[in-house]
Amino acid sequence: MTHAPAGTEETTAARGRRAAPTVLKFGGAGLRDGAAIRHAASLVASHPGPRLAVASALEGVTDLLLAAQDKVRGHDAQVLPTLEALRRRHLTALQHCAPGDDAATYAIESGLQRLERLLYGIAYTEERTERLHDLVQSFGERLAAPLLAAAVRAQGVPAVAIDAEHAGLRTLGPYGDARVDLEAVRREAGPVLRAMLDTGQVPVVTGYYGVDTAGNATLFGRGGSDFVAAVLAHAVEAQAVELWKDVAGFLTADPRLVPTARWLPELGYDEAAELALNGAKVLHARCVEPVQAAAIPIRVRSLAEPQREGTVIRDGVPDAPRGVRSLTHRAPVALVRIAGAAGTAEALAPVTASLQSSGVRVLAAALGGSGLALAVASGDEAAVRHAVATAPAAARTVEVRGQRSLLGIVGRGIPASGAAAKVLETLAHAGVPVEMVAFGASQVAVNAVVPAADAPAALRALHRAFLEGAA
Ligand code: ADP
Ligand code: ASP
Ligand code: MG
Repeated sequence: MTHAPAGTEETTAARGRRAAPTVLKFGGAGLRDGAAIRHAASLVASHPGPRLAVASALEGVTDLLLAAQDKVRGHDAQVLPTLEALRRRHLTALQHCAPGDDAATYAIESGLQRLERLLYGIAYTEERTERLHDLVQSFGERLAAPLLAAAVRAQGVPAVAIDAEHAGLRTLGPYGDARVDLEAVRREAGPVLRAMLDTGQVPVVTGYYGVDTAGNATLFGRGGSDFVAAVLAHAVEAQAVELWKDVAGFLTADPRLVPTARWLPELGYDEAAELALNGAKVLHARCVEPVQAAAIPIRVRSLAEPQREGTVIRDGVPDAPRGVRSLTHRAPVALVRIAGAAGTAEALAPVTASLQSSGVRVLAAALGGSGLALAVASGDEAAVRHAVATAPAAARTVEVRGQRSLLGIVGRGIPASGAAAKVLETLAHAGVPVEMVAFGASQVAVNAVVPAADAPAALRALHRAFLEGAA
């Protein structure tokens, strides 16, 4: 038997004695106002074992910052009203859940001062680089974490806000949709957070962004705080990630569009990942990856009913095909038809190469003898036109239709189940025009493009056909 160096031995032994922590993440709905923050803090404070929290921005603040970046450009008079709205919102909430907490007041005021300088920068230069964009957006979380930490302290549990920079949440860029360096996060964030936990402190970490090797804030995309929670869970070898939401858990569809959506008690990692990648907003698209490798379960839990288990996403759920599990939708997307791009591999190759180098995000595709149809992320339409125009080949025509919705009908074993025929039949019956279907590429999803205005009716009809009654 070989002996590890004494230091290592001690660390391992110490770690063995410690219970693995839980990561509790609160999104915008959980941090809507003072009352919601107090409730979130009570869930953290009453959690029995070691835990860390991840805070997203207060509800609506990320959108407010996005809008402000446009509004202040060339209009310096817009800066102070924006800051004042943020100040009022955060200080009113603080007053409600942790009155007189000087550390939080200071953190919020100094965050606002920094943000003020950045917004004046945009106002005067009329420029908005990707770097500045991501940095400004990160302030929603930088203001929220101190607030949640103060609310936890007010309930008698020591808690400290820590931003992604100090926590060591390393990314590899790019701006807007950053990748994490999981190994670096494990190396850096793991010990930092564990040291805080060891002294009995609850770390409250900012969600939504990490920092690249040059120290720049880089966003993980909308809903990125779920992802931060998963990454930190990996770094501290957590026993579970709890995502506290305004729903009972993962449901068979978005309840805002399908009121009859039902609660799913459990999902396999692959099912949840597929649903998230297909646009189920309840989970960030890449959230499963960091926890799956370490077999850490994700629990999607209800803020309104904390006594409920929520939905558990984990390994080892039966992996037999179970038919359609849940419906997703992504909107708005654009449908692009490129006539004359297919037929032969020679005709297609330059177009796909050009799309790739233009950074077009293709969400689903269908190929026929005379053309190619693509569902692309909204905002990428111009890049598609450019890509097609610059691809070295014969003249082609491009037709773009905006305001589309990409539906996902998701579950294991779908291709063999006759689901595609049933999707088309159901939508035809509901009078919803189907403009593209992608089927066969994925073992777990059928995708269909419909006009965005028809998406709610389409989802309700599909839910009735696949997920209600005896289905
Ligand atoms: P957070 O507050 O954590 O940011 P989100 O708003 O991102 O939470 O996610 C919760 C929302 O996701 C719900 O309010 C619901 O409208 C939507 N949603 C979409 N698909 C589903 C689904 N399959 N199950 C539950 N909620 C869903
Ligand atoms: N605040 C960010 C957003 O609104 C991140 C998150 O909520 O997870 O997208
Ligand atoms: Mg979210």
